[in-house]
Amino acid sequence: MQTNIDYLQKEIDRLNKIIEAYDKFRELSHKELKEAKKTIEAYEEVQELSRIEQLSLYDKLHFQKKTHTLEDKIKKLLDQCPTNEEKVIELLKKEEPENYKIYSTLFYILTHHEFSEEEAIRIWREIKERQIEMQNALKRNISFRVAMLDYFISTNKVFKNPMTVEIQLFEQLQYQAIFDELTKVYNRRFILHIFQKELERAKRHKHELCIILFDIDNFKRINDVMGHLTGDKVLKLFSKVVKDNIRTEDSFGRIGGEEFLLILPETPIYKTIYLLERIRDILSEISGEKMFFTFSTGIAGYPQHADDQTTLLHLADKALLRSKLDGKNRDYIYYNGH
Ligand code: GH3
Ligand code: MG
Ligand code: MG
Repeated sequence: MQTNIDYLQKEIDRLNKIIEAYDKFRELSHKELKEAKKTIEAYEEVQELSRIEQLSLYDKLHFQKKTHTLEDKIKKLLDQCPTNEEKVIELLKKEEPENYKIYSTLFYILTHHEFSEEEAIRIWREIKERQIEMQNALKRNISFRVAMLDYFISTNKVFKNPMTVEIQLFEQLQYQAIFDELTKVYNRRFILHIFQKELERAKRHKHELCIILFDIDNFKRINDVMGHLTGDKVLKLFSKVVKDNIRTEDSFGRIGGEEFLLILPETPIYKTIYLLERIRDILSEISGEKMFFTFSTGIAGYPQHADDQTTLLHLADKALLRSKLDGKNRDYIYYNGH
């Protein structure tokens, strides 16, 4: 009898726990649940990697973040004291005493050439000597950058035919060369360049790689019925949702009017379907009735479908056509019968 009561008590406790969990669950908003789903998916994804792969991924991201912030910091300091590189170095050494890339990053910003830190420190010293020589010879102040230009043209012949340009203007030009103006994702030229690089990397490391070709459905009608500006908004919204839902190592770009390309390195092809499902869910949730739109995709992968860029794009396009012919708002992975 006692055991029976014990058993019932345990069962009641268990049910109470379930009710408690259910109540907690209900308190979570839809958005939080989606976040939780994303975390679980990310966790599952990471679990599939070996420890070494996880560490190298972490290092890669960490390194990218670190060098990126250093570059930004130097640019900001150069902007504040434009002709006082010495002061910039002094401030950086104080702010980042542990950073061993200060000189090489500074030279990268100024020349767009990559030097090792050791080399960069030597070059810095030699330019400072050149600056003093020039000042003594000309009997007037010579800035670091004037001495640097002379040094790189006549001594360390890094430049053949240099041109001077404001850093800010150069950055703007660089941005325009890489990004699509309307959607702020990579432009056609750059996404195809990344595709080539990633394909080479996949071959070198024997990794899988998938591409997804997107085309927004009935986009002409959206423009005709709701106007070009709404059409533009659709392109922007779509780009933002995709960009916000891919991993850092994935690349996304606009390859034509309402056509986009997503490159997913180290991804088995079946996984693309979960990603696309998530993108559709989010889009239908946030685009609202007024801006409602759908998209179709064609998916192809290395190594199973082809091993060169042109064929992979062609096969993804074939799969995309199949999605369109079958009624749009769907995804097809290429298979031989297409
Ligand atoms: P389907 O479902 O078969 O893909 O048909 P669709 O109407 O989406 O495709 P179609 O190729 O007939 O039309 C694409 C339209 O996209 C035509 C073009 O005017 C429009 N477009 C291209 N670039 C832009 C842009 O930057 N902004 C806007 N608003 N429209 C654009
Ligand atoms: Mg199209
Ligand atoms: Mg279309």
